[in-house]
Amino acid sequence: MAFEKIKSSQPSVVKLLINSMKKERLSHAYLFEGEEGTKKFETALYFAQMLLCTEEEKPCGECHNCRRVRHLTHPNLYVVEPFKNSIRKQQIIDLQNEFSKTSVEEGPKIYIIKELDTINISAANSLLKFLEEPHPNTYAILTTANIHRVLPTIISRSQVVQFSSLDKSLIERDLIDEGYPDEQAKIASLVSNRLSDALSLLSDDFFLETIELVKELYRMLTEVKDSLVTHLHEHGEFIFQSNESLKLFLSIMVLHQKDLLHVRMKYTQAVVFGDALEVSKEIVSRKSKERITSELEEMLSLTSRLNHYINQRLAIDNLLIALERR
Ligand SMILES: [Zn+2]
Repeated sequence: MAFEKIKSSQPSVVKLLINSMKKERLSHAYLFEGEEGTKKFETALYFAQMLLCTEEEKPCGECHNCRRVRHLTHPNLYVVEPFKNSIRKQQIIDLQNEFSKTSVEEGPKIYIIKELDTINISAANSLLKFLEEPHPNTYAILTTANIHRVLPTIISRSQVVQFSSLDKSLIERDLIDEGYPDEQAKIASLVSNRLSDALSLLSDDFFLETIELVKELYRMLTEVKDSLVTHLHEHGEFIFQSNESLKLFLSIMVLHQKDLLHVRMKYTQAVVFGDALEVSKEIVSRKSKERITSELEEMLSLTSRLNHYINQRLAIDNLLIALERR
């Protein structure tokens, strides 16, 4: 495993971990969130090596500890992964037992739970208890590609570290190099899979109008004036042109909604709508994390239901009404 690759593909994550270690401000639990292929597990191993390496320049990658981490044979490293598509209670109990054994060596202990979103409820409850009792020098790294499926109680006990999608961050950089404003470049890269798609979005007024519409709807949530539905009917008729246009609208709504979670978790580096930060903060001060999460889930589920026959206008109206409910 080439660590230089992790450094170049997830530079902000590596920087965050190195800085927290230097400042001795490590969290006891990290939640690595990012799409498949973003090297979350490899980065978790890198982190374990940082903690266990015996050399000055950590991780050296070569010492006995670094090698044992790489081969998953270090007794202070424990990896849990889904068994038959889910993480079960017994696996969490085994983890706890393993770490209470004396065979564990001196120094930090690290456990990694892969695909945390597959955890079943009773296992999640055991894990929560484990996370709540502080174990000195023990670090949890939880990874998921679907943070919206992770229990908010687990999220709130972890430091969320967002992994940027590899290709998308490259697309974003290319767009910024082409001279597009940061926010537009970011949104275009997040909602498209190829540079060419992102470029054609950016040259389309429809895309820019949709961004403005979404920002306006969120801004309106901070006021008591007009209703979102009325605003949409008067200024947002264009989103109903096609399934694609409606999907784009929802994707951009999802990005703004995720910003609320990022603001809530004080992870502002991940915020997409940077100049709407005050708006997001204002909304977050009024809504619980559970509510923000369930609204996000509704947006995602609506996106997947668009393929079926549904009354699209009614569904969007209902979504907006739910957002502005007080
Ligand atoms: Zn080492």
